[in-house]
Amino acid sequence: MSHVLQAPVAPGGTIGILGGGQLGRMLALAAARLGLKTHIYCDEPSPAFEVAAAHTLAAYDDEAALARFAASCDVASFEFENVPAAAAAFVAARVAFAPRVAALELTQDRLAEKTFATKLGLRTAPFAEVSSAEEARAAFAKIGAPAVLKTRRFGYDGKGQAKVSSPEEVVRAFDEDAPAVLEGFIDFAFEVSVVAARGRDGAFAAYDPVENVHENHILRRSTVPSRLAAAKAAEAALIARKIAEALDYVGVFAVELFATKDGALLVNEIAPRVHNSGHWTIEACSTSQFEQHIRAIAGWPLGSPQRHSNAVMENILGAEAADWLRLSTSGALHLYGKKEMRPGRKMGHLTRLFPRGER
Ligand code: AMP
Repeated sequence: MSHVLQAPVAPGGTIGILGGGQLGRMLALAAARLGLKTHIYCDEPSPAFEVAAAHTLAAYDDEAALARFAASCDVASFEFENVPAAAAAFVAARVAFAPRVAALELTQDRLAEKTFATKLGLRTAPFAEVSSAEEARAAFAKIGAPAVLKTRRFGYDGKGQAKVSSPEEVVRAFDEDAPAVLEGFIDFAFEVSVVAARGRDGAFAAYDPVENVHENHILRRSTVPSRLAAAKAAEAALIARKIAEALDYVGVFAVELFATKDGALLVNEIAPRVHNSGHWTIEACSTSQFEQHIRAIAGWPLGSPQRHSNAVMENILGAEAADWLRLSTSGALHLYGKKEMRPGRKMGHLTRLFPRGER
C-alpha cells in the first residue's frame, strides 16, 4: 500500500530520511531553513545526526526501529541509493514516501537501469549482461575492446569496476557471486550531469547541465555552465524529463551523461537522489537541490532552478580537509563533520562563484 500525501507538510512537520551521509546532512539543513524538522535513520553514526532534530541508529532490517521512524514522520525519503529496497518498502507501507521504491530498485541494478533507458529511446554505451563465465566471453564478443565490467549492484564512485581488453580479462574480472554488465568504453569528449526535480503535481524543473571531472572514479570538480551548446543542454534536460515522467518520479534526481565527440548524449547512470554534481546549486541558484528535494517530497511547489552565477565546485577529499583554514577563505566552504580523513573520502566541498556568462 502506498500512502498519498493529503496536504503539503506544514512548517513544524517532520521529514524522514533513510541514510545519513553528507547528502542527508545537507537535506536536513535545507529543511530546517523551511521550518521543517528532519529525522535521520542510519545504521552507523552519521554526519547528518548532528544537524537533525531526531535520529535513529539502527540496522536497515530492524522492523521495530523502522516502524517507529515511519510513525514519527509526515513524509519520508532516502539519500543513498544502496539503502536496502526492503527497508524503503517497509517505511513506504506506513507513511507517504518519495521517490517511489520502484525508482530505487531500478537504479540499484545497472542492467535494469540501462535497459529502461534504452526502452525510453535514450542512448547508452553498448552493454551486455554477464552472469556466467560463458556469458562473459559472449558479451566481450558483442561489445569489443576496450570495455568496462561493472557489477550490477552496489557500485558507486567506481567501486566494482574493471577496464578490460580481452575475453580472458573479462573472465578474470568477473566474480560468479556478483552479476555484472559489460559496457563499451566510451572515449567521451566530456561528462555532464543534469540535476532535476519533479513535484507531486507533475511540475518539472531542471538545473543547467554541469560538467564533471572524475579522478580515480571519484568526482573531483563540477563546472557550470558546461561546454554543451544551448540545443544540447535542452536535449539533456529533455532526457531527464523523460526519465522522471516514466518513473512517475517525485523529488530530485541526477542523470549522468557522456557527451561524445560526435555530439551524442549517452546516459551513464541515474541517481534517484540529490547528487554531488548539484552541490553548486546551494550558492549559485535561487533554490538549491536540497531545498528542491524537500519541497518536492513535502508537496510544496517546486522552487526556481534559475542560476544567477557561474560556479566551480570542488570536492575536498581525505587529508585535503586538513587545509580547512586556507580553504575557508577560498570560496564557500562546506565541511561534513566526518572525523576520519580516509584517502578519497568526501570530507567537504568548496564552491567558487563567478559572474554569469561564458565560462
Ligand atoms: P559509474 O560508476 O558508472 O558512474 O562510473 C564512474 C566513472 O567512470 C564515470 O563517471 C566515467 O568517468 C567512468 N566510466 C564509467 N563507465 C564508462 C564507460 N563505459 N566508458 C568510459 N568511461 C566510463
